[in-house]
Amino acid sequence: MVETSLHFSGLPWTKRLNDFDFSFQPSIDRTLIEELATGRFLDEGRNVIFKGPPGVGKTHLAIALGLGCAERGQRLLFLTAMELARRMKTAFAQNRMPHYLKMLTTPKLLIVDEVGYLGLDHEQASLLFQVICSRYEKQAATIITSNKAFSEWGHVFAGDAVALDRLLHRATVINIKGESYRMKEKRLTGLFPGAVALPDSSKGGTRTKTK
Ligand code: ADP
Ligand code: MG
Repeated sequence: MVETSLHFSGLPWTKRLNDFDFSFQPSIDRTLIEELATGRFLDEGRNVIFKGPPGVGKTHLAIALGLGCAERGQRLLFLTAMELARRMKTAFAQNRMPHYLKMLTTPKLLIVDEVGYLGLDHEQASLLFQVICSRYEKQAATIITSNKAFSEWGHVFAGDAVALDRLLHRATVINIKGESYRMKEKRLTGLFPGAVALPDSSKGGTRTKTK
């Protein structure tokens, strides 16, 4: 069941809550994330929005919640906003839009990653809104990650105030303010003067060695 859910989920990689270093990102309310991990938001059809600059763990946390959904045997679908736009275009060109919208509405959880990095065109934004509205009516949860402030969302979402209202109503918003985790990794690699990163065959990662 989990395998099947995962196979069709579109998750780009797997990361768990256990892999997340909360001490690195103190602006995140850990209790809130743990509450989300109980899966109650799925039953309540509550939306979750992760906001913040690149590298702070938005996608990581969205994926971890998605894995939890799959482990409960419930279907989820993960898409980047860009991929969503691309697929909508294809569906439109093939006259399959009603079918595609239904596909986006059925899973227990829909994750739309990186909303706002690249603008959807007006038509795509309003279609995404249709999806959000019909999911809202079915009490099906949607997770969105975005680097944009809400004040800019009107622009991203083609100014559809009703849909934006539905997205935000009953939503849990996690506003991450912090440094990119990738910067931490970079800094660790260059921690000592003259340090070089070597592949660590025992762990499949990299380690640092001082010359
Ligand atoms: P964002 O989506 O906010 O741009 P990501 O979730 O893609 O950031 O995080 C970038 C990389 O850093 C990923 O490999 C992710 O697993 C890792 N990462 C980010 N924050 C943390 C953290 N606090 N603890 C452990 N790994 C993290
Ligand atoms: Mg991301």
